[in-house]
Amino acid sequence: MLRLYDTRQRGVAEIVPARPGQLRMYACGPTVYRFAHVGNMRTFLLCDLIRRNAERHGWSVIVCQNITDVGHLADDNEPDPDGEDKVLSQARAEGKSALDVARFYEDAFWRDCAALNIGRPDYAPRASESIDLMIDMIAKLIATGHAYPVTGGSVYFDARSAPGYGAISGNRLDDLRPGYRFADGVDTGKRFHADWALWKAAPADRELTWQAPWGTGFPGWHTECSAMSLKFLGTQIDIHTGGIDLRFPHHEDERAQSNSIAGHEVVRHWVHGEHVLFDGRKMAKSTGNVVLLSDVAARGLDPLAVRLAFLEHRYRQQMNLTWDTLAASDGTVRRWRELVADWANEPSKPICAEYWSRLTTALDDDLDTPAALRTLRELAKDRAIPAGSKFETFAATDRILALDLVSLVGKPRSAPLPEEADAMLGERAAARERNDFAASDRLRDALADLGVAVRDTPEGQAWTVRPAPRNAC
Ligand SMILES: [Zn+2]
Repeated sequence: MLRLYDTRQRGVAEIVPARPGQLRMYACGPTVYRFAHVGNMRTFLLCDLIRRNAERHGWSVIVCQNITDVGHLADDNEPDPDGEDKVLSQARAEGKSALDVARFYEDAFWRDCAALNIGRPDYAPRASESIDLMIDMIAKLIATGHAYPVTGGSVYFDARSAPGYGAISGNRLDDLRPGYRFADGVDTGKRFHADWALWKAAPADRELTWQAPWGTGFPGWHTECSAMSLKFLGTQIDIHTGGIDLRFPHHEDERAQSNSIAGHEVVRHWVHGEHVLFDGRKMAKSTGNVVLLSDVAARGLDPLAVRLAFLEHRYRQQMNLTWDTLAASDGTVRRWRELVADWANEPSKPICAEYWSRLTTALDDDLDTPAALRTLRELAKDRAIPAGSKFETFAATDRILALDLVSLVGKPRSAPLPEEADAMLGERAAARERNDFAASDRLRDALADLGVAVRDTPEGQAWTVRPAPRNAC
């Protein structure tokens, strides 16, 4: 039985799909105004891991993940959002149209997902193409007394009309700081400080505005996720994923909207992924501490080294990435592929039941990927298990971990990388990073003694391994 930590229930819960055999999952997608950094990608990996694990249980899985190309304002994580639309702001900076910017970064996002083996969602609606859905939803909320239009054309959700508001984040309405903000008089009709805009009035000559019964404007960011999830997944959604920072106000507001439309609890389980630090600091453009997947590839590291580095930590544990840990993960991924290809050449044997049981138990236990990886390392070294069984067990596990571990099977290749060379290659990458060329040269010579020839390329270090002599044991 698959179990996951449910933020609203404050505990690990058994996942029982509302429709037997079919899991419906919604994932908050990217706001496409810049390249996603590797920390952003960890959230999307969470959805992919749940999907792969659910499919192992024989469930069909339907995933909807939105593309936010309008309505996400710079301060939308504040209780009283204000500020400029992130896509419009970037479009001005790049001298392009808003939709050109949005499509460019959306394409980049899908490429990054593919490089990390993060599967495509079944539905990936764009906010800018779903405006009718949102207008319909807002009209229903107004008709049922959950929302109200104000002079000027904005529409607010009446927070006090949603019983149980705050259950995800623990933020009670009474405790929320009153923080009235008035933007050119547009917000003057707001009745309660915690009410939020479902529709924001805007001048008709602004890019990305639409006509609504209340006036010209654009939808609020929280509006889109309710409208899209209800449209594509219905009013019974098994799992909703997102980054931990989306708990409030984004998910809280979305829950209030969706429950008000459906008249019952729509999302059965809210599952949140934790942040990634890089070199001990938050990844943020403002501090220059941002690492993109293209930076990883430029150093000659396999993008799936990032996926493995994430899997070394449970999704709800904050983690720190460094270039050293990525180099070590890169070495592990490459060594495992070599081993799996070697094992594939040995006589075929059934999957190792004991290890498979331990692996699947760990994955079902709130995605305990660190335990699963420890089990794989133990299996790789276990001399009692025939190579053919190791191959089958690694191959089956890789359908969930998705590290391309069978990619070298049947391919011509150099000899496997000696185990001790992994750490040395990582140390050498780090030495070059800090311009310590004496250490780099010393490590190159030591690697050569192990039969590993290293060369430096514009993409980082590359290596070949001299095959062992035929008579070696
Ligand atoms: Zn969302």
